[in-house]
Amino acid sequence: MTSTLAQDIKAAAALLADAHDVTLLGHVRPDADALGSALALGRVLHQRGATVRVSFSEPAEAPETLRGLDVGGLLVPPGRLPETEPLLIALDTPTLGRLGALGARVATGKAAGGSVLVIDHHATNARYGTHHVVDETAEATAVLVFRLLEELGAELDEPTARCLYAGLVTDTSGFRRASPGAHLMAARLLEAGVNPDEVVRTVMEDHPFAWLPMLSAVLAGARLEPEAAQGFGLAHAVVRAEVAASVRVEEVESVIDVVRSTRDAGVAVVLKEAGPLAHGSRWQVSLRSTGRVDVSAAAAELGGGGHRLAAGCTTEGTSDEVLDRLRAALGRAPLL
Ligand code: MN
Repeated sequence: MTSTLAQDIKAAAALLADAHDVTLLGHVRPDADALGSALALGRVLHQRGATVRVSFSEPAEAPETLRGLDVGGLLVPPGRLPETEPLLIALDTPTLGRLGALGARVATGKAAGGSVLVIDHHATNARYGTHHVVDETAEATAVLVFRLLEELGAELDEPTARCLYAGLVTDTSGFRRASPGAHLMAARLLEAGVNPDEVVRTVMEDHPFAWLPMLSAVLAGARLEPEAAQGFGLAHAVVRAEVAASVRVEEVESVIDVVRSTRDAGVAVVLKEAGPLAHGSRWQVSLRSTGRVDVSAAAAELGGGGHRLAAGCTTEGTSDEVLDRLRAALGRAPLL
């Protein structure tokens, strides 16, 4: 018999109620939802007396815009984690691969008799834990953590609420894809003291001036292919490594939000050069859909994943080869 989400939340809360030593992990290149969710839950467990560490495998440091969320200093580099822990919690991470080098800890932990709780909202979640709170209809992992904290009867202080708000506001693209339930959750977070303007400015809109010349260089090379993506149109742009080197990862990640505002394109794609290879380069690819084309299917074809309207993958080749593969995959992606 498959359990319901409410039963899963109860089981997870029972597991957390006794937790005394917990490691919380976000996916590689963590975003506000992964890190905010991990820090919010970690903070509450720490306040209840547990030893808590929050970590992710790469890059070496958290994005600058998210560091302010770690008020209690819970972030620990992967090298400083213990051999194994009785309770491992993976957040916003659909597959072991998305944990990067830290994915191996899941098997190690299970073999040592530990529990692994997976909290996630990706449809592609592989349910690799011993306990799961997985709901693809949740707008953010932060929504599921909020429900778990309610089940635990936890008090939300401002730093905890701020972590959850950061995940919620980013994963809903500023509440554009937020259900009434998510708005009610936001109201509770504001009541706990969150300053929404400050969170949004810090997490989503805080760029150095170097952002503008970087955007200018990248957008000058943007192209529109009206016939691509099954006639819904494809807009794409390429961020070369030398251009990316002039700014932080936050500025590079912002490019897709500009490209996806193009009215003529049902799909937006940004290729971010991660490193040179003997032939071509390694690319991190962001895909966004305005609602007609399922971009998670196209990303999955290239070994990635994500959500129907926002997905990504890592792939290799020249930018032209990668674009060819994307055109082909978008040409046969399911329509929504
Ligand atoms: Mn998320």
